[in-house]
Amino acid sequence: MNKLALHWQILIGMGLGLVVGIALNLSGDTLTANLDPDGLIAGAVGFVVKLNSFIGQLFIRTLRFIAVPIVLFSLIAGVSNVRDLRKLSRVGGKTIGIYLTTTAIAITLGLVLVNLFQPGASVDEEVRNALGAEYAAEASAKIQRAQSPDVWQTVLNIVPENPFEALAEAKMLQVVFLALMIGILLTVIPTDKSAGVIRLADAMSDVFIAFVNFIMALAPYAVFALIADVISKLGFDVLVALLAYSMVVVAGLLTLILGVYPLVLRLFTRVGYRFFFRGIARALLLAFSSSSSSATLPVTLKVAQERLGISEEVASFVLPVGATINMDGTALYQGVAAVFIAQLYGMDLTLAQQLTIVLTATLASIGTAGVPGVGMIMLVIVLESVGIPLEGIAVILGVDRLLDMCRTCANVTGDCMVSCVVASTEGEIELPAAA
Ligand code: ASP
Repeated sequence: MNKLALHWQILIGMGLGLVVGIALNLSGDTLTANLDPDGLIAGAVGFVVKLNSFIGQLFIRTLRFIAVPIVLFSLIAGVSNVRDLRKLSRVGGKTIGIYLTTTAIAITLGLVLVNLFQPGASVDEEVRNALGAEYAAEASAKIQRAQSPDVWQTVLNIVPENPFEALAEAKMLQVVFLALMIGILLTVIPTDKSAGVIRLADAMSDVFIAFVNFIMALAPYAVFALIADVISKLGFDVLVALLAYSMVVVAGLLTLILGVYPLVLRLFTRVGYRFFFRGIARALLLAFSSSSSSATLPVTLKVAQERLGISEEVASFVLPVGATINMDGTALYQGVAAVFIAQLYGMDLTLAQQLTIVLTATLASIGTAGVPGVGMIMLVIVLESVGIPLEGIAVILGVDRLLDMCRTCANVTGDCMVSCVVASTEGEIELPAAA
């Protein structure tokens, strides 16, 4: 019997997780009210909920555990095999340039949609105040955590003061810097000394890719657990109240993923969109379930090399950098959210203010870490830049997790798309005949 392809298994896990999550969500209060807390059924339900969250967390932890070593070793192996500094700096410049451009396009798309559909106009003041009051405490905690990104400091931070701290703290850009340096310098020292290290890096990178294969077998169940856990805690009433806003964000993300990216692929590569999406399906499903581009990174690296045929050298540079600084989905969401909140408070934003949003949301999305919910914390900076009331954050907080899942998909798709463009223009992609 043919075994079902992994992405189908994950999709089934996701579907079942959705059903179980909704059932738990809807029956939550009734169940807790009618059960004897010391009884067998309550104990069993409690155990299942705990087990779900345990499996989901275990899976995410294992992916995080792999992220740093896989980037370190595969980048060292990739770079030390190139021996061409000019090529490396060209790839670097191209990568950053395309990342910034696509991010600005994403925010502009979000701004056009939110101005066109005016979702803020459909929320009445009562709902706004009720949501604002309900989530006020959580919102103010987020507002306090926000810190304006200082461009100079951000660039400075790429160079670690202590490489071991960079590894220990999983500071991805610093790890990329370290690996680049080691990779480049290995080509400078005598071959009899470097050969062993290069072979070791190559082998270790294969070891961690094999590790990803191994834990991906757990993915269908882990995705089930993650989705069931998130959906069981979601506030559906908030979703209804903010439906127009959520739909504008999702429509923007879909236009980006299904319209803009395939167009860029078509213009600059020979990668067909079907081949592309089939190739990255696993990473996308994982991005959606985990809401974290950095937890998804090991899988993104694997599919980029094994399914899209991108070279280790390009994938291991472009993707970790992307998972850290390229957040198109987050930037689009920040644009929509900022104007939506302005609409809620009856503010009319001028063109200059909207351009300021494009600029600050680009910077804010660079400063956003690839973990759940950080996009909303960085939204504070965007709001502050044009004087939009920060209390507005409380109004949209209830639907943030769901939108986070969607924007993380756009973030990961954007990274994969850019790695295809960079690899294609460098001749570093091996496409099968029918791609
Ligand atoms: N969760 C997003 C990511 O990991 C970041 C965000 O928008 O909160 O890509």
